[in-house]
Amino acid sequence: MKKLALLLIPSLLFIACEPQENSKQNELDLLAISYVRTCLEIGQYDGDFVDAYYGPDSLKPIEPQKDEIPTLVLLNKVRGLQSSLQNFIKNTENEEDVNRASFILAQLVATEERLNIISGNTSDFDEESKKLFGVAAPSYDTSHFEEIIAKLEDVLPGSGDLKTRYAELSEKFIIPTVRLDTVLQAAIAEARRQTKLHYPIPENESFNLEYVGDKAWSGYNWYQGNYTSLIQMNTDFPISIERVIDVGSHESYPGHHVYNMLLEQKLYNEKGYIETSIYPLFSPQSFIAEGSANYGIELAFPEQEKIAFCKNTLLPLANLDTTGITAYFKALEAVSELNYAGNEVARGILNGTMTEEEGIDYLINYGFYSPEKAEQRIAFTKKYRSYVINYNYGKDLVDKYVASNSKDQDSRWEAFGDLLSRQVLPIDLVEN
Ligand SMILES: [Zn+2]
Repeated sequence: MKKLALLLIPSLLFIACEPQENSKQNELDLLAISYVRTCLEIGQYDGDFVDAYYGPDSLKPIEPQKDEIPTLVLLNKVRGLQSSLQNFIKNTENEEDVNRASFILAQLVATEERLNIISGNTSDFDEESKKLFGVAAPSYDTSHFEEIIAKLEDVLPGSGDLKTRYAELSEKFIIPTVRLDTVLQAAIAEARRQTKLHYPIPENESFNLEYVGDKAWSGYNWYQGNYTSLIQMNTDFPISIERVIDVGSHESYPGHHVYNMLLEQKLYNEKGYIETSIYPLFSPQSFIAEGSANYGIELAFPEQEKIAFCKNTLLPLANLDTTGITAYFKALEAVSELNYAGNEVARGILNGTMTEEEGIDYLINYGFYSPEKAEQRIAFTKKYRSYVINYNYGKDLVDKYVASNSKDQDSRWEAFGDLLSRQVLPIDLVEN
């Protein structure tokens, strides 16, 4: 009945709705443009703020950069935009417009908090992560990690100190430097093949791969727009076999490279959502980005397929013995349950309840970090602060979302692809 009525009065509908909807759209487009401009202006002063921008050059700041960041001016702009968006949401019925405005608003709440942080006005760990990333991660005490560690006794081969046993097992699967590029390219190619089986990703997509050093992170995707990425891998530390799988999927397919491409294709190119062209790193978008990229590793490489791929392809390419690979992946899975220890260290350091030295000890004892990796993690914590929750809590919530919207491997890819193609807020995953 509804359809028939609509068919009978198309011209009336056109007259009644379109001008109003158009003006609403224009209003939101203008707010989105102001959001992009403001972010680009902040990016002039905070080198970590804008992770990617592929929108028009005309939105870049024209005024020369000032000697000092004009924090108050920028805060006023951000707050003004927030209240315009709140008004817009209050006075709009169109669900898609409300969703879009809510997304930009949440990004601006994060922008305000980032401005506060860079001007030295910091909140505690949970409050910061709520403002920056939309949620606060669960907190665990040492007994939680001790329980997980006790279970490692049955998982790690050999006897004696568990950390030594874990380190010895990992060492067997370190890729010789001369083989690294070949092995990594093979891992990325397989992750891409798996992804292409499920998503029609743009024909002209591509990435460049670089090996770098002296970084606080182990891998990075710098999205360049036009369906291209620069992927960097940090070679400061020896690289074990699972790391090439992580980089192949987390940074590439179906992780960051695919997420950014889908957003560019579906939201920027098809819908003209200008806000998509900018990715402020300290924002709820990072929660979805890191959580989905970590979930994507398991999606592209389910346990059994991953072991088979390592045995048949990656380890032979690396000139490594395949003996013990199943036990190694079991150990990695068990040890990965300790990764919330990194959150507790960030929480302690940011809240001033833990020194850096105590943080290093905590990471070694409760996170099974090597001393060198623990130091790198402290450097990461100082630079990226509560960002750490995006990796583990983000992954847990993406996992929960996909599990409740799928029943088999094919529908997992489908639910995941849908998540990567929309403006989703972390709170939507909590309430899912
Ligand atoms: Zn990442």
